[in-house]
Amino acid sequence: MDYALNPYSGCAHGCVYCYAPEVTHSKWEDWRVPKAKMNIARRLSLELPNIKGVIGIGTVTDPYQPAESELELTRQCLRVLKEQGFRIHMHTKSDLILRDIDLLSEMEGTVGITVTGICERESKMTEPGAPMPLRRLETIRRLADAGIDVYALVGPVLNHLEGKEEAFVSALADTGVKLIYIDSLNSRPLLSERLSRMRFRGSPSAERRIKDLAQVAGIEVRPVF
Ligand code: SF4
Repeated sequence: MDYALNPYSGCAHGCVYCYAPEVTHSKWEDWRVPKAKMNIARRLSLELPNIKGVIGIGTVTDPYQPAESELELTRQCLRVLKEQGFRIHMHTKSDLILRDIDLLSEMEGTVGITVTGICERESKMTEPGAPMPLRRLETIRRLADAGIDVYALVGPVLNHLEGKEEAFVSALADTGVKLIYIDSLNSRPLLSERLSRMRFRGSPSAERRIKDLAQVAGIEVRPVF
């Protein structure tokens, strides 16, 4: 990715492991209320003639915030990028991306869908505002079926996955995904405090097991960093 494009700031998904507030020097309470950049598509049109390279979409926050279903800022940006022939690399946890399959399937690029487990109850605790895991897995499957270059971003790997690695990798394999990026917990002081209050921690053992099982299932595994 050569450039970062974020049609929103803040994020309604409310993931307990989110370190974006620290990176952006925001308060956690403020970060949880997304703000829309209403003129982003117009600004993008003005800036594109001066740049070349891959545009990363959703580098700091999810480009498919709940408000995107009405505001369509990400969709407007995709239209502009498609018209200008730019390659994209997009990240999301939301199945709202499926609305834009028509544009994505005619663009060059890669899409990553973050999946951190398969248990709804745990997802409600760790990612309370995000679509549930099965919807994300289905999203991967539908993107792959549409011929879009898609991978699963598995991270951060938390201890709630311990003992469920096999079921998790099997669910990933069922989507047809051929590549996963795996990421450890990014421990920062405020984050570690929040997670330990909820008894969550990073799990190197689950990470190792997922890597091994994925390789057996014929899925390529790469580290995020
Ligand atoms: S989706 Fe990403 S930006 Fe949004 S709360 Fe979760 S980790 Fe943070």
